[in-house]
Amino acid sequence: MKRFGILLLSLVAAAALFAASAPDGKRWWSYIEALANDQMQGRDTGSESYRKAAQYVAAQFERDGLAAAGVQGYFQPVKFDARKIVEAESSLELIRNGKPEVLKFGDDAFINIRVDPADSVEAPLVFAGYGLTVPEAKYDDLAGLDLKGKIIVTLGGSPNSIPGPLRAHYQTNAERRPFLERAGVAGTVTIQNPHTADVPWGRTALSRFQESMTPAEQQFQDTRNLKISITVNPDRADKWLAGSGHTFAELLALADKGQPLPRFPLTATLRAKAKAVRRQVESPNVIAAFPGSDPNLKNEYVVLSAHLDHVGVGEPINGDRIYNGAMDDASGVATLLDIAQTLRDSQIKTRRSLLFVVVCGEEKGLQGSRFFAAHPTVERSRMVADINTDMFLPLYPFHLATVHGLNESTLGDTVREVAKPLGVEIQDDPAPQRNVFIRSDQYNFIRAGIPALKIDSGFKKGSREEAIEKAWLTERYHAPSDDLNQPVDLQAAAEYNRLILALARAVADNPARPQWKSDSFFRRFAQ
Ligand SMILES: [Zn+2]
Repeated sequence: MKRFGILLLSLVAAAALFAASAPDGKRWWSYIEALANDQMQGRDTGSESYRKAAQYVAAQFERDGLAAAGVQGYFQPVKFDARKIVEAESSLELIRNGKPEVLKFGDDAFINIRVDPADSVEAPLVFAGYGLTVPEAKYDDLAGLDLKGKIIVTLGGSPNSIPGPLRAHYQTNAERRPFLERAGVAGTVTIQNPHTADVPWGRTALSRFQESMTPAEQQFQDTRNLKISITVNPDRADKWLAGSGHTFAELLALADKGQPLPRFPLTATLRAKAKAVRRQVESPNVIAAFPGSDPNLKNEYVVLSAHLDHVGVGEPINGDRIYNGAMDDASGVATLLDIAQTLRDSQIKTRRSLLFVVVCGEEKGLQGSRFFAAHPTVERSRMVADINTDMFLPLYPFHLATVHGLNESTLGDTVREVAKPLGVEIQDDPAPQRNVFIRSDQYNFIRAGIPALKIDSGFKKGSREEAIEKAWLTERYHAPSDDLNQPVDLQAAAEYNRLILALARAVADNPARPQWKSDSFFRRFAQ
């Protein structure tokens, strides 16, 4: 009885102590308010408002006693080649029997400016399934087709028979490039898959006016062999397929079942004229170090990453032009700032150092993290892990976490261990077709051989939470309504931040470095 009393007392004391020191989510939210208010103008890479946001982040790191770890203090400037489409001086036509059919930008299709377009191109069209080559799975949509000088038309997605991470990996531009180049493909036309796209066509189409950016060095020019890239409204896909004997409904039904798609020549030729305005801009990553306490291990780093940029000011939706990016990804930067403050306030020590890497250019195709991975400000071999936080969506209580990369490295085992006492269940990606694994900055660390995870709020299939997340993506993802006026579960965010800190500490304090699993496909990059 007495012992029980003491235990109870100490539990109460511990709880009180914990309550005093544990952030409740309000502090995390205050960082989002600072980064995602309307004055921040959506933090587009290269913009003045992004620069202000970067200075704010650096100032917080400095206040919390973190060391500058960029190349100019906390900053690592990145030079970009930027371009924007001028639709008034561009055109797309499908030519059949010498007769042109003019396509309407936005309604029918648009020129995807991620590929630097040639002034003009005219080439035959071939439907090439998903346009995917996956050597490990002996899968090749390009095999046996004569594609030299032709433009391939593809449906977004991949067949189910190939494991999730593998098909995600081979859908990146960098991985597609050698196969497209070898086949002599002149351009790509991608029909958006309406059943797997995160946002409806209308919002995809509005994104075409955003400025595209690629780091200026040659090594980053993944699509230099392509003359044009076009994205097609699925509702208008049959314009492209007309006369081929196939319909979009038929192809979509196959894709829904995750089956391979037929490949066949199309009856039309594409004639495209593209006018782009080009310029050079510079924008910084922000990098800070929390020094480790172990004389040897402190020379190694556990990276915590998040992206500071969003898509800026764009086409108005419901009268609002400012794409604030509160969840995408001010929320992840706020997690890093919150952790930095907890480290200081609670006088936490870690044996390895922690490296806070806040990047630009994520929305331009993971460009800031790619630049950092190519030009790391600490030796690459000294970075033992990356824990990335991007749009983790604390929209409901945090009892379950989805861990992207869970089964690829020992980081997955570590996150299971630290999550258990926090009462958080861990699961693998329930929606691999969204390709989240390759769609945020952790991917550039993985490609540099560094074991990495991206952790999100989790939901079970068919649950209320799944419906909440789906609605959020449909309504707010890359829309001006991802702003400060949205329901967010602060307690869930606080618990998420606690998990990330616990994971970072566990990895930093473990004498053994994280290792890729022997059967992980991604292990190859570490060898
Ligand atoms: Zn985004």
